Amino acid sequence: MNYPNTSLLIDGQWCDAADGRTLPVFNPATGDEIGRVAHAGRADLDRALAAVHKGFALWRGVPALERSKIMREAACLLRERADDIARTMTLEQGKPLAEAKIETLSAAETIEWFAEEGRRVYGRVVPPRNRAHQLLVLKEPVGPVAAFTPWNFPINQVVRKVAAALATGCSIIVKAPEETPASPAALLRAFCDAGVPAGVINLVFGIPSEISAYLIPHPVIRKITFTGSTVVGKQLAALAGQHMKRVTMELGGHAPVIVAEDADVDLAIKSAGAAKFRNAGQVCIAPTRFLVQESIRAEFVKKLAAYADAIAVGDGLAPDTRMGPLANTRRLEAMNALTEDAARAGATVVTGGTRIGERGNFFRPTIIDEPPTSARVMNEEPFGPLAVVKGFNTIEDALAEANRLPYGLAGYAFTRSIATEHKLRLGLEVGLLWINQPALAIPEMPFGGMKDSGYGSEGGSEALEAYLNTKSVFTNCV
Ligand code: NAD
Repeated sequence: MNYPNTSLLIDGQWCDAADGRTLPVFNPATGDEIGRVAHAGRADLDRALAAVHKGFALWRGVPALERSKIMREAACLLRERADDIARTMTLEQGKPLAEAKIETLSAAETIEWFAEEGRRVYGRVVPPRNRAHQLLVLKEPVGPVAAFTPWNFPINQVVRKVAAALATGCSIIVKAPEETPASPAALLRAFCDAGVPAGVINLVFGIPSEISAYLIPHPVIRKITFTGSTVVGKQLAALAGQHMKRVTMELGGHAPVIVAEDADVDLAIKSAGAAKFRNAGQVCIAPTRFLVQESIRAEFVKKLAAYADAIAVGDGLAPDTRMGPLANTRRLEAMNALTEDAARAGATVVTGGTRIGERGNFFRPTIIDEPPTSARVMNEEPFGPLAVVKGFNTIEDALAEANRLPYGLAGYAFTRSIATEHKLRLGLEVGLLWINQPALAIPEMPFGGMKDSGYGSEGGSEALEAYLNTKSVFTNCV
């Protein structure tokens, strides 16, 4: 099966934990243990902190052009290794091989974009009030970063943070997911093999709450970046606030899809359906509430259910599989609980709603029609292959429902009316909005949320700004 055990990466060395502890890694398609990951203790974290401190002093002095060359080489290595890495990712995370390969190849593209953009981190020359003076605005790397990433996109969640940090001259400690450790380790290996100096990138695993509680307040760390649930994000942001650390928070969502009666329904089903069931719905931007104008709701429910029923669910390594297992048993339990609660509250489970088989974390793509607003699924992020359809009469009603929740990450809209599109573009409280098209996340566009979905961005020039300090320099040149 060739699934690699995963070590820590500290000061350029791949190593075991000082006390030799490890954690098991399971294949979600079978439930079998497939390998082990090193479990860092305090001594390992202290070594990583010393390394990232040294790494920052070194890397910030490397010219942007040189940093860019090394990053481009890492992207090449990642492409060469994409088949092996994708297989590893599918074994530990469950997603279909094709999705794992796309994630790996997109990471190479992300690295290249940041490698280019890092060469364009400009300051400014501001017109002085006195001709003898010079006013300069300088951009400097913020310092060593602590990054915490989740298991749903083992590579993508890491690469956005590492590429932005490296492009701006920062060093980084990544606390990658214990459940899916080997593919992010392969990503970091590509950077090391490309020539990123020892100490600049470091990788640890262990007990997430212990590691964050130690790294965030530590004086060496100057910036925190976290992707995960809103509950945990708020805890980490509070801790970072106490220690005045810069923060980027990429948290949960409960994306609305507004389908007006003048929409191209087939386009809406195909685009939002694909976004819903990709990675078995374990995606922060996955659509959850399909808000459909009443006149077309019945037709829409039928078509969406047919779309869901046609999805081949199975082991991600099998060539026909379009949706793999859920990444862990917690999600399976959550899908059962949300479905049962909605049914009890009077909703119709149109299709799905049950586990498939007894082995592995497989759950049927699920469509629930007309749950009351009080149902849990209308308020909690399912983070799984479950969507609800809810009717609306006016666009204003749809907007009110879309904005009802504290989340504000992704939104989708389908309409042929310019006036409706205009209203939704202005009215939806989301950081990402796709109109009449499938979800698309590309490095040149900002990626992030508002409200309880977090703050900061992991794409576009905003993503680099998050890793930079601004220094204003006033010089009297006489
Ligand atoms: P969880 O809240 O326990 O963990 C989410 C992530 O945060 C995991 O990667 C975990 O290792 C990490 N984490 C948890 N506590 C931490 C701490 N104190 N310090 C540092 N890291 C910590 O939930 P889970 O069961 O793993 O995932 C389910 C929920 O998490 C989902 O419902 C979803 O809301 C959220 N999630 C969001 C994303 C995303 O892309 N935004 C990704 C994965 C999970």
